[in-house]
Amino acid sequence: MSPSMREMPAPHVRLPAVHLLLDDAGCAPLLARHGREQVVAHLRAVLDALRARLLAGQAPDVAPAAILAQLDARLAAANASKLRPVYNLTGTVLHTNLGRALLPDAAVQAVVEALQWPMNLEWDIETGARGDRDNLVEEQLRALTGAEAVTIVNNNAAAVLLMLNALASDREVIVSRGELVEIGGAFRIPDIMSRAGAQLREVGTTNRTHLKDYAEFAGERTALLMKVHASNYAITGFTKEVSVAELAPLARERGIPLAVDLGSGTLVDLERWGLPHETTVRETIAAGADLVTFSGDKLLGGPQCGVIAGRKDLIAAIKKNPLKRALRVSKLTLAALEPVLNLYRAPDLLPQRLTTLRLLTRPAHAMRAAAEALCAPLQDALGASYVVAAAPMASQIGSGALPVDRLPSHGLAIRPAPGTRGNPLGVLERRLRALPRPVIGRIADDTLWLDLRCLEDDQRDAFQAQFAHLQGGGAA
Ligand SMILES: *Cc1c(COP(=O)(O)O)cnc(C)c1O
Repeated sequence: MSPSMREMPAPHVRLPAVHLLLDDAGCAPLLARHGREQVVAHLRAVLDALRARLLAGQAPDVAPAAILAQLDARLAAANASKLRPVYNLTGTVLHTNLGRALLPDAAVQAVVEALQWPMNLEWDIETGARGDRDNLVEEQLRALTGAEAVTIVNNNAAAVLLMLNALASDREVIVSRGELVEIGGAFRIPDIMSRAGAQLREVGTTNRTHLKDYAEFAGERTALLMKVHASNYAITGFTKEVSVAELAPLARERGIPLAVDLGSGTLVDLERWGLPHETTVRETIAAGADLVTFSGDKLLGGPQCGVIAGRKDLIAAIKKNPLKRALRVSKLTLAALEPVLNLYRAPDLLPQRLTTLRLLTRPAHAMRAAAEALCAPLQDALGASYVVAAAPMASQIGSGALPVDRLPSHGLAIRPAPGTRGNPLGVLERRLRALPRPVIGRIADDTLWLDLRCLEDDQRDAFQAQFAHLQGGGAA
């Protein structure tokens, strides 16, 4: 808006003055909520826009109440969080783009407290001396994994980077070609390797690697033998992988540490609850791994972090590396991690208490009951352009854990009514995203699937209440 236009009011309509609007009783709550500077700035913008419309010959409502209503909406939008809760109905429980594991109440309370109080993060209460933040969770992690020592960093990618830089800088790391993986979000083993200053020595082939392939190259220049969990894919058919147990004797004989990037790294045997078996950290260490790295926010069910567990001398060397200081976790992470690890002291209660495990072990009949209850209300809200049905579907664990295993689930399958034109599913997907708490589903086979595994029973009413916002939206 040019200054000359500001000075040129429309012939018959006058906008209320800024100071009168600020003194209006309707403005008081906005001033209290957002502060004077912000309110004045947005009020001027609202008035500028109205002036422009008047000059363009339009007749906007310029009553103080209407102007303040616009101001309220503008301020609310400007102050809304960009990071918002959503409903994850994708069927992927540990969805990296949606923040992976949800934390149990005990962890939530501990984080709140850590945010508001000084904590003994690096201070030993018994002795009054300086402490080490890793000590807060080390004992429990050792008990759960059988490792001699542990250290915690920001995520598993950081754990791998730190481990390689500390132990293999300017030396070789032997990895099977079948394990040179890319994990979503640009984590590629060869790239991390070079950033860490280590030299990758690829052995074997994509589908088959034998013990002799490792043995041929394991020598003077070798710093580590490394295995990487394939995580997000499976090699099937004519394949051969050398297990940790098979590789460990070679590592010992040549005096070279054996490191395993387990990725998800579960602490308990999931088979106990009818889930597919995923190698545990304890099993990997028992099989002879000297170091294991894994994520905190995948199957473990905790906050984002990366754990390096293993031999005491190797962990000590890793902790001395300056990168450890750069990659260390905050008090919030440790505050959340400790109560999660403590839940593992009562393994029989884990499926109730550990949110991730509760979601993964939810029986299909629970999702089916929810689907049947929600089907008709959603059909009513969407109208005749769509056909909503309760349907069986398959969830997955996500984040690279057990990529080919599917968990039987149930949910809502939404198809366009016969004869509907355009892109009705794309339109619906957008409408679901535009809800106060966005709903994220999955489109496949001309159907929008809402897997109800991650909609817990106590969330169902609030979820259904949002259907009112979908009413009358039409398909186009
Ligand atoms: C997930 C994963 C990573 C990356 O872990 P983040 O905690 O996301 O950094 C690394 N390696 C493997 C094998 C993984 O599955």
